[in-house]
Amino acid sequence: MFKSTYLVNVYADLSKRYHDQPEYLQVVEELLSSLDLLVENDPKIQENAIIERIIEPERIIKFRVSWVDDSGRVQVNRALRVQFNSAIGPYKGGTRFHPSVNESIMKFLAFEQIFKNSLTCLPMGGAKGGADFDPYGKSDNEIMRFCQNYILELYRHIGPRMDVPAGDLGVGAKEVGYLYGMYKRIENEFSGTFTSKGIESGGSLGRAEATGYGLCYFVEEMLSAFKKDDFKNKRVIVSGAGKVGSMAAEKAIELGAKVIAISDISGVIHDEKGIDIKLIKNLSKTNTVVIDKYQSYHPDAVFSPDPVDIWKVPCDIALPCATQNEIYLDSAKALVANGCWLVAEGANMPTTNEAAKYFREHDVLFGPGKAANAGGVAVSGLEMAQNATFQCWSFEEVDQKLHAIMKQIFDRCHEASSTYAGRPDDLVTGANISGFIKVYQAMLQQGV
Ligand code: NDP
Repeated sequence: MFKSTYLVNVYADLSKRYHDQPEYLQVVEELLSSLDLLVENDPKIQENAIIERIIEPERIIKFRVSWVDDSGRVQVNRALRVQFNSAIGPYKGGTRFHPSVNESIMKFLAFEQIFKNSLTCLPMGGAKGGADFDPYGKSDNEIMRFCQNYILELYRHIGPRMDVPAGDLGVGAKEVGYLYGMYKRIENEFSGTFTSKGIESGGSLGRAEATGYGLCYFVEEMLSAFKKDDFKNKRVIVSGAGKVGSMAAEKAIELGAKVIAISDISGVIHDEKGIDIKLIKNLSKTNTVVIDKYQSYHPDAVFSPDPVDIWKVPCDIALPCATQNEIYLDSAKALVANGCWLVAEGANMPTTNEAAKYFREHDVLFGPGKAANAGGVAVSGLEMAQNATFQCWSFEEVDQKLHAIMKQIFDRCHEASSTYAGRPDDLVTGANISGFIKVYQAMLQQGV
């Protein structure tokens, strides 16, 4: 927790106003916990009410999405887009379709996105959007009709220099295709106002791999800086077998690690011979959940129907890549007790603040999501650059740039943690301060 009276008062006020938004309060507390020293040494932050301003979204657009299902019934979902901060560039952030979507979750994700985007050094502000629509079990036509009706409202509020959405949980290349297709039809322009598009629709090679691969590049930097080591022969576990998790597992294996467990909502598969990631990727082409089907191809592997069991598998490195708050204190204790010494977040805020504190107290190297999973949005920024200049870069060119960006993000976090935390491996403080300073300076330059 923070000590500065200014931060304590601002947070108390926020907690009163948004007492029903736990995820949002959690992410703000996480950021403010790193800012004590900065606030103490720089009176301009308080004088210009920077914290009060940075924790309120510039705009929230809430809307209804009505659509017709395959049986002819009218369905209604609730959608919103949080345009949180545009100090350093147009709003940028993903779109989530999941029954859990609400204002608290959208605000937490958009807030986190501000500082993540800042860390990439690309000119992108922070936003997030989505709907409480569940694509699982829906036909392609139903998904298309939902996406089209979602855009019928949202198109007014987005644009290549205004707000550029992307995918997230439940929104992959298919959904982005339908969303972008409808936007393009209404606006009559091919401006690239969406990233993580299919390649043929103007997407970037390497975007699908970017978050998972970028996470592994970030972990490589951690291993090299703090342990003079690399991925070779490390036992790795990955939660989530979706866009981020499967690519993180693939890259970790390529870098010499042994990925021994992976999960999705159906459960965990533990395969001491090493997870067959090609099989997982093939299964996910035709199935919504894949982990419960793995054992029929590899009978030696052990299946557990509870996804939380993944944190009990002894490992060196844990990569949580599924969703928010998937590692509570109990799971953090199990990880440490079983020998885990490095955790890096592929998902957004998968670790609760208590669990993250426990890792710190037990000398577990910790790569916070806003730095470690920034590769996805970084390549989205590269997709915007390619669209704006009518260029198509090769996979190798994009991957090289991604690698360089992840190294630069690590270096910035490392430098800031050495200066402000007195502990060079405190990458949480490093990421928070480094991400915050750029946004704060831009807000100062632009006046109230
Ligand atoms: P996907 O929908 O592609 O995949 C999510 C995966 O996590 C699925 O395998 C899902 O299982 C699984 N999952 C969901 N909830 C749980 C749970 N409680 N326990 C175990 N597994 C679970 O999403 P993404 O991979 O795109 O996103 C994952 C996370 O990464 C999110 O936090 C997202 O915000 C973050 N992120 C994503 C980026 C991107 O580029 N896509 C960029 C940066 C962060 P099932 O399919 O069975 O439901």
